[in-house]
Amino acid sequence: MLKEINNKTLIRKCGAGFTPYSFDLNIYRGCAHRCKYCYALYSHKYLDSDKFYDDIFYKKNIDLLDKELGKIRGELVGIGTVCDSYQPLEQSLKIMPQVMQYFIKHKNPIYLSTKSELILRDIDLIADLSKVATVYISISITTLNENISQKIEPNVISSERRFEVARKLKEKTNAFVGIHLMPVIPYITDNRENLEGILSKAKELNLDYVVAGTLNLYGETKKSFLNFTDNEFPKVSGKIKEIYSSSKSAKEYYLNTNEFVKKLKNMIGFHNKCSFKEWEKNRPEQLSLFN
Ligand code: SF4
Repeated sequence: MLKEINNKTLIRKCGAGFTPYSFDLNIYRGCAHRCKYCYALYSHKYLDSDKFYDDIFYKKNIDLLDKELGKIRGELVGIGTVCDSYQPLEQSLKIMPQVMQYFIKHKNPIYLSTKSELILRDIDLIADLSKVATVYISISITTLNENISQKIEPNVISSERRFEVARKLKEKTNAFVGIHLMPVIPYITDNRENLEGILSKAKELNLDYVVAGTLNLYGETKKSFLNFTDNEFPKVSGKIKEIYSSSKSAKEYYLNTNEFVKKLKNMIGFHNKCSFKEWEKNRPEQLSLFN
């Protein structure tokens, strides 16, 4: 099902110190990429739907952005922070080019994350925006193992193609381009070969940052993800459950993973080349994976 939403506002205040941006913009609600670990499943209950992957809602009144961007005056806006802005429907709806035009007009910085190569359709607009404002583009990559990727992200392009998207964005725009190495999933994607491989590839492509984060299992995601691992990863499913007695990974696992990623970054010689100023100011201690 596809449904328009006539929102009174598009840009929302958010963050509370957990993100480098304090406003966000999510054009779509629901996502056909169908990632098994998707943290946003909970958000569909506010739309009276339990079909996050199938009932896709989109915001149509994009012209509101003109007024809203005039009000926030250059604050960093996270785009696609809940649901991917470049999911399959965007191919025909073409909302993001309109969004980009407003950001260019207002010279407003963005922090956009996606898993889709459809973003390359808008590469000229991103290049234009990156000439007049700070632009961060994060490509989400969880694993170099394509078999695992196909299981956990069944409707997303291969990780190899995602790296290619990052390479092109880096080459053709002035944006800071990096990798969201998240979620790091215990016993499935947290092995050294995988994490080191992703960091090494980011270094090889001269990318600007890698931000890692461990899996969270909020709301209905916990039940659906653990059912999924029972079926698809039965050998490690029990051990994953031990780490998730709550919605967050056990503290020890989190800290160890944090340290491990830092160690690998140092070993490889990959250091983030850009700072996330707002982020650095507010960064809580326990989220230091962003270093
Ligand atoms: S791309 Fe993001 S929003 Fe879409 S299903 Fe995957 S995790 Fe959820």
